[in-house]
Amino acid sequence: MIADSGLRVIPLRQLVAALLGGPPVPPRSAVLTFDDGYADFASTVAPLLAARGLGSTLYVTTGALSTAGRPSGGGPFPSAATLSWAQVRELDTAGVEIGGHTLTHPQLDTLPPTSVREEVAGCKQRIEDELGHRVDSFAYPHGYSSPRVRALVREAGWISAAAIRSTSAFSSERDDPLQFARLMVRADTGRDRFALWTRGGGAPVAPFPEGLRTKGWRAYRRARAATGRPYRAIPA
Ligand SMILES: [Zn+2]
Repeated sequence: MIADSGLRVIPLRQLVAALLGGPPVPPRSAVLTFDDGYADFASTVAPLLAARGLGSTLYVTTGALSTAGRPSGGGPFPSAATLSWAQVRELDTAGVEIGGHTLTHPQLDTLPPTSVREEVAGCKQRIEDELGHRVDSFAYPHGYSSPRVRALVREAGWISAAAIRSTSAFSSERDDPLQFARLMVRADTGRDRFALWTRGGGAPVAPFPEGLRTKGWRAYRRARAATGRPYRAIPA
């Protein structure tokens, strides 16, 4: 649907350059991003993208990737098969941008600063060690961040960070590179809704003020985390 829609798929770095004051992106541009590092990115998604010549960014949760000593499906995503580092290196070589998505996929805005630093800096170091080059792009697990989390992400050397706002939203040239908005395509996202998105409708344009419901939800999650009973969200 993206390929047929006339959207121009551009690399994430082109959007980020525009958000940082560089040249504007062409009208009707789209950036494709994928979170977590599930095995079907390599088996299903990458071949479909390659066949259409579409670039993408893959944000990996390093603690979930399978290694020689630990099979796929361990760590933060016990029920899902995940990529191996060998596959991530292959994707990197093939031109997929590899980004970071923490070590263990926590809700960063409920953690103390030392843990946030470990998650965001540790993840960057691990990916750079494996790939042998710098990586710039980060995505918040579940989309959750806070001013403090964003400051620590910047301090760790990440240039951009993908968020999920209270609702799916279009990014824009006025969006924040450290919490740019995304449209979240899930298993239950209907074709009609997706088609509307490809025409630029059906979702608000970021930046926009945060709704009361989002604020209340965050307060609840933080209160739960503070009492040692964190809310168990489904990995997103
Ligand atoms: Zn995730």
